[in-house]
Amino acid sequence: MRWKGRRESDNVEDRRGGGVKAGGISILGLVVAFIAWKFFGVDPQQAYQATKQVTSGNVSQNTAPANATPEQQETASFVKTVLADTEDTWKQVFIQQGAQYTPPKLVMFSGAVQSGCGTAESAMGPFYCPADQKVYIDTQFFKDMRQQMGISGEKNQSELSAQDEAGDFAQAYVIAHEVGHHIQNLLGISSQVQQARQRANQAQGNQLSVRLELQADCLAGVWANRTQQRTQFLEQGDIEEAMDAAEKIGDDYLQKKARGYAVPDSFTHGTSQQRMQWFNTGMKSGDINSCDTFK
Ligand SMILES: [Zn+2]
Repeated sequence: MRWKGRRESDNVEDRRGGGVKAGGISILGLVVAFIAWKFFGVDPQQAYQATKQVTSGNVSQNTAPANATPEQQETASFVKTVLADTEDTWKQVFIQQGAQYTPPKLVMFSGAVQSGCGTAESAMGPFYCPADQKVYIDTQFFKDMRQQMGISGEKNQSELSAQDEAGDFAQAYVIAHEVGHHIQNLLGISSQVQQARQRANQAQGNQLSVRLELQADCLAGVWANRTQQRTQFLEQGDIEEAMDAAEKIGDDYLQKKARGYAVPDSFTHGTSQQRMQWFNTGMKSGDINSCDTFK
């Protein structure tokens, strides 16, 4: 996948390695609160709240932490470029539908982070929070994709760079899938499904969740199609790489790995086969109307 030299999005918040656990107590905050209490007679509770606001204000930033390694900077650059690609794609699609696109923010974090949907931990994997319209990604997940799931690009072609070998298109697909959930939120599909789920039994409810997930895959396919038309970013092996990722992060695969067998009714992302099929549908058509997974 070619990605260098394109526009990078400003909508990325880098909260990696800041050392401040959101919602937790920062030492700095406590020290400042203690000083305020001791020397200025300020109520420690109030002083702490005030310093917490100031110190947590520094956590959310668009630039990488000052001590970011070259690898972290490269990852940030990659994530910003892919997010910009989704912005350009969906802006175009929405204009064609006579609507205006509001892009999501993307939060890169490490370990744990406070989101509008509660505390997020890296073990949950990447996710989209409709309440604050943000995509949350622990960039460690990209490493896990490579190292634990074995998702990587073509290694036998000498012209491909190190980043290609790292399975970059599969990573971009993960981001595009999460942005797909944002599109569903904007179009009101997520809330319709949420309402329908409340009237449904467990198995039907899971079916609805699966359809929502498959649609996000299809929307990721639309992104791939449109970005290809605009930038010719795909390289040989990229689609196979995304298919490989779709297969490895399909629920049946993860469940088999975890428990040794698959339980169809508890699938929430669809089988690997379904995920690949719907990504392909969006990829071939480039048209959101082809993404009706609820028919
Ligand atoms: Zn999803």
